[in-house]
Amino acid sequence: MARASGAPAGVRAAVIDGLLEVDLGPRVRAGFTTTRFNLALAAGVAALRAAWGTPLALADQVHGATVAWVTRPGPAATAGPSGLVELARVGAVRAGPDALAGAGPVGPGAGGLDGAGVSVYPACDALAAGVDGAGVSVYPACDALVAGVDGIGLVIRTADCVPVLLADPSAALVAAVHAGWRGLMAGVVNAALGALQSRGARHVRAAIGPAICADHYQVGQDLAAAAAQAGHSVSRGPDGTAHLDVAASVRAQLEAGGARIVADLRECTAESARLFSWRARRDTGRQAALIALT
Ligand SMILES: [Zn+2]
Repeated sequence: MARASGAPAGVRAAVIDGLLEVDLGPRVRAGFTTTRFNLALAAGVAALRAAWGTPLALADQVHGATVAWVTRPGPAATAGPSGLVELARVGAVRAGPDALAGAGPVGPGAGGLDGAGVSVYPACDALAAGVDGAGVSVYPACDALVAGVDGIGLVIRTADCVPVLLADPSAALVAAVHAGWRGLMAGVVNAALGALQSRGARHVRAAIGPAICADHYQVGQDLAAAAAQAGHSVSRGPDGTAHLDVAASVRAQLEAGGARIVADLRECTAESARLFSWRARRDTGRQAALIALT
């Protein structure tokens, strides 16, 4: 199931080969890469910069519900050899399932978007050097990035987990979210929505990228029980095995949180030859989900 045929709703005509661009509104560029567009290679980064004109900030996943704000590099920032952006985390939002609406305040008062107390992380050199190669920089440990400034591309990477891109063009806010089952259970989608809404977002549009489908996502009985208890979508295979539909739960959380899903690729990473899958093939490559205000 869930294999896309033809262009899914919300996907734009290709500008960059191998990048599935989605339309999240004016001034927003957003999309999901396939195996044909390898962001781990410098050529991929260069192609993206040429098309979008933005440097990139990359989040490393922790499979929780931590959101980081990304700011434009200040005068003191040192760009890496690739010219990619530095990542400044000005306020981490750590939200549990019961504290999702309490994502704020971040920004001024809690560090300041461009003010004091900014923690600056190393430049994202790894994107040019090879994400899985040597010289990988240390990134902020978070599952979601939010930016309220123009000209910075946010990147999260997935192989089977659900990538979500969020934008409210009228509020000039964008976010990239990595939602695996741990993040789902921890409330990463709601944490990201809360982070946007606490900064003034009122009309959030969402795009859901390729992820593993329930049929191909068998989980243990303990996780299945916990997920079912938490109200997530758990199904049973013919042999009684438990299967988790993370994308379905992400969809439900987005809609419950007031976001409008304008693109939903519904392409299974385990089934599609143009996507990486850790579960199905132990692929070490990753899809990138990218978004920027331009
Ligand atoms: Zn599948």
